[in-house]
Amino acid sequence: MTHQTPDQVHDVIIVGSGPAGYTAAVYTARANLSPIVLAGSVTAGGELMNTTDVENFPGFPEGVMGPDLMMNMEAQARRFGADIRHEDATQLQLNNPIKEITLGSGATLHSRAVILATGSAYRELGVPGEKQLSGHGVSWCATCDGFFFRDQVIAVVGGGDSAMEEALFLTKFASKVYVIHRRDTLRASQIMADRAKANEKIEFIWDTEVTEVRGDGKVSQLGLRNLVDGSESTLDVTGLFVAIGHDPRVQLFSDQLDLTPDGTVQVIGRTSRTSLPGVFAAGDVLDPHYRQAITAAGSGCVAALDVEEYLADAADTDASETRESQNLHAAAT
Ligand SMILES: Cc1cc2nc3c(=O)[nH]c(=O)nc-3n(C[C@H](O)[C@H](O)[C@H](O)COP(=O)(O)OP(=O)(O)OC[C@H]3O[C@@H](n4cnc5c(N)ncnc54)[C@H](O)[C@@H]3O)c2cc1C
Repeated sequence: MTHQTPDQVHDVIIVGSGPAGYTAAVYTARANLSPIVLAGSVTAGGELMNTTDVENFPGFPEGVMGPDLMMNMEAQARRFGADIRHEDATQLQLNNPIKEITLGSGATLHSRAVILATGSAYRELGVPGEKQLSGHGVSWCATCDGFFFRDQVIAVVGGGDSAMEEALFLTKFASKVYVIHRRDTLRASQIMADRAKANEKIEFIWDTEVTEVRGDGKVSQLGLRNLVDGSESTLDVTGLFVAIGHDPRVQLFSDQLDLTPDGTVQVIGRTSRTSLPGVFAAGDVLDPHYRQAITAAGSGCVAALDVEEYLADAADTDASETRESQNLHAAAT
């Protein structure tokens, strides 16, 4: 089999355009690595494109709208020369020193390093009203949005540790937190379950699913169904936190590199280095726990600095191999 050398090999290709991808783009562009960002054909900007106010990203004392923040990040990356393409990566070949990336258009790109910044998708209930009222009372992140629900009556859906964590955190703001769960026992660890059950602001609604989120521009009521007797009811709340899990977007490369038991990309220590040389990860795709815009951005910075180091080391190795072979050649002649 013969290997053709590709016409052009880029230094780094970044897959994903959330805070992690764009931060990696700013850093690698400023390091003269001419990054290409595959921003996604319809999802450019990542999760924050789906929300309204972001009040916890430093540098914006009055808060900032999620889409504005992401458009600013994109503009900042472009300013330093990042080549941002609104295309999907549809296939990745990551094992060889030169990585091959196939795009939705069918074109193929090659690069010495790849940063995987594909994020993590929050699971949705898939009920009427949920999407329409996202950012208007429906949330997937208590840390991000709990503050907006001071003295209000709200609900959390889920029965695992993260649902208990969200519910307990929300009791700092809300006057009452209903926890709606499909079963009559929790999946959460005993300690988290005990803590939630002991909190007097939390009330459990067992064996129940949410069938609809209602409200005129803002959440005001949930439709509920009891799964034991099938009876329908309503619950008046102004907020709904969906805490039924999240899926790291690893499908494209999960068969090529190591993952953690949580399904996130396994990295080495505090670096962004994955189990494959030249492949780096950043943002929520490697993070089973924190999943914030600022942690994703910080992790994009780490990945960019790791790529710089990797490419510099690779260039040093190439140079010393060339010198060695020149010396051997000189000695032989
Ligand atoms: C509704 C909502 C509100 C939130 N509010 C806040 C908040 O107020 N404050 C806060 O700090 N955090 C908030 N978060 C969390 C925050 O959005 C995430 O932690 C952050 O966006 C993660 O950044 P990321 O770059 O890792 O991934 P993402 O933002 O998920 O971006 C990844 C991008 O890569 C794209 N992608 C995936 N695969 C491919 C591919 N094959 N080719 C091309 N592109 C691809 C995805 O479609 C996506 O656009 C919120 C999340 C949600 C869902």
